[in-house]
Amino acid sequence: MNGYGNMNGASTSAQGAGVVGSGMNGLDGTSGVQVPIGPTNQPRVLVRNITDKETTFHLSGVELGYANSVRRVMMADVPTIAIDQVSFFQNTSPVPDEMLAHRLGMVPLISRNVMRGLRYTRDCDCDEGCYYCMVQLRLKVAFSGTDRKSLNVTSDMLEVIPSPRQPPPPNPYGQNPDLSEDDRLIIENRDPEMGVPVGKGDPSVPPILLAKIAKKQEIDLVCKAYKGIGKHHAKWSPLSAVGFEYDPYNKLRHTTYWYEVDEKAEWPLSSNAAFEQPPDPSQPFDYNAVPSTFYMNPEAVGSIPVRTIVEQGLDILVENLANVVLAVQKETGGDEDDEEDGGGGMVDPTMGMNGDGYGMNGQSDPYREGGGGGSWGGGGAPNGAPSWAGGGSGMSPLRR
Ligand SMILES: [Zn+2]
Repeated sequence: MNGYGNMNGASTSAQGAGVVGSGMNGLDGTSGVQVPIGPTNQPRVLVRNITDKETTFHLSGVELGYANSVRRVMMADVPTIAIDQVSFFQNTSPVPDEMLAHRLGMVPLISRNVMRGLRYTRDCDCDEGCYYCMVQLRLKVAFSGTDRKSLNVTSDMLEVIPSPRQPPPPNPYGQNPDLSEDDRLIIENRDPEMGVPVGKGDPSVPPILLAKIAKKQEIDLVCKAYKGIGKHHAKWSPLSAVGFEYDPYNKLRHTTYWYEVDEKAEWPLSSNAAFEQPPDPSQPFDYNAVPSTFYMNPEAVGSIPVRTIVEQGLDILVENLANVVLAVQKETGGDEDDEEDGGGGMVDPTMGMNGDGYGMNGQSDPYREGGGGGSWGGGGAPNGAPSWAGGGSGMSPLRR
């Protein structure tokens, strides 16, 4: 079943829903829009509109679970940076330290290319954060009190200050021998605006109010912003919301509308209904129908352009799924064709306890780079296999 039907009348009823992307085949002008279905049952994406902050796209040819995974991975797994530690030198404002620290944590910071331009601090060999894993910001405001009663302290007053271990100046004679390959990649990929509060210096973006201070009050603090993901704290999520809808006519009856008098009047159709065939009341209910087109509308907070969030989200999802497949293959000792040979994918709980994975065979320190084989999954990996956790840190991926 394909979700894209002939959308007669779409040109009128879809007003305000954005414009169907140009460059599509099959636009037939006056009567509506015919979306090409394509020869195979491959996933398809139709981008309806896109800006830096928001996009609307249709995802079809996938199952509901996959579409929902795309939504979740974009919200929870795409890394950004956010303030995680605040050192207070002075705070005589009416806002308590804890509350101010929380408000600072929620300020979106520019995180373009943070995937490659910054390290997770747990993967870094520094002690308390450095140039390669952290951005430092300072907030230093005092109000002497003149003509006004109070002063608004906003996110625009946060200034990025240099972190410890600044990279050495570029070497005119070639590669700097003091830099490891890893450090060099971070310097190359780091965005010069990394860590600057979103909208700072842009008069069209109102700054975020952090506190109001009265005469002779002051705030002086230093913040450490680290790379993280929304799964650990919502402040690291690059999205504020993801609109997610399928089956706008509720033909599948996955939901029941509560209403007072008139269901149709109280639950107007969404703009996505213009892209589907209305239900035919003469047809019986199809118990076997499944949703096939998903209307997604991610809204970014501004730290990363929304296009990058979608692309990185898909990359991360593919990587996660590949890791599941690899882990199952490793444990069952074969590919998926062997699934039916009794084992059924179940893992013997004693597997993985032979010491390999935990470095208990005395070959090396398990917490050091390259220690043991497969530092996470245990057993299955041959000695010397790269650590699953990436970067050879030996840290469990569960702590990502
Ligand atoms: Zn560091």
